[in-house]
Amino acid sequence: MKRVCVYCSSSGRVSPVYLEAARALAREITGAGLDLVYGGADVGLMGLVAAGVKEGGGRVIGIIPEKLSALGWTGCDEIVVTPDMRSRKKKMEELADGFVALPGGFGTLEEILEIITLKQLQYHAKPVVFLDTAGFYQDLLRLFSRIFEDGFARPEFSGLYHLVAEPDEAVRYLLGYQPPPPIEKWGMERTVPR
Ligand code: AMP
Repeated sequence: MKRVCVYCSSSGRVSPVYLEAARALAREITGAGLDLVYGGADVGLMGLVAAGVKEGGGRVIGIIPEKLSALGWTGCDEIVVTPDMRSRKKKMEELADGFVALPGGFGTLEEILEIITLKQLQYHAKPVVFLDTAGFYQDLLRLFSRIFEDGFARPEFSGLYHLVAEPDEAVRYLLGYQPPPPIEKWGMERTVPR
């Protein structure tokens, strides 16, 4: 585990509890000697995590799509400009050894759900953590339970991600992660004959 990718809100107009979680996560990342891969901007929780990692002596790699490149944080040690949002997510996935989602909006959800989806299909076997500050992800977890209960995903896939309440637990989980044996997504349960 060398580089952690953090997905998080581009908004800073949120409760101080979220702002503090972003700062605390940055402290834990640098305390563990890890570097940061993130969305490259100096806005919202993203900016706080990046500035915090930099301040703690960690290396910050920002991955930003061309369209948003004006928002790129000049404090990054390295900025990778990608042609679009999709290639940006691919780059983040390639460069990081593990993924943490702080609270965030549609962009954060989209990123973390894609990384879980890719893990489900065995494109990668890296740790994925939700940082559930102030219980932010509880409703999403309830929806996930419904997904398992109603048969839209195998219940074993609840092991694809991990939920923690505090930033130090997130980093501990990343550091101690051992990928479990892979699980096939489905058997051959066709609903139409070939
Ligand atoms: P959101 O949760 O909707 O604020 O989206 C945040 C996530 O989407 C971040 O993890 C970024 O990777 C990406 N993103 C959204 N807005 C921006 C932005 N203005 N600049 C850079 N990345 C962004």
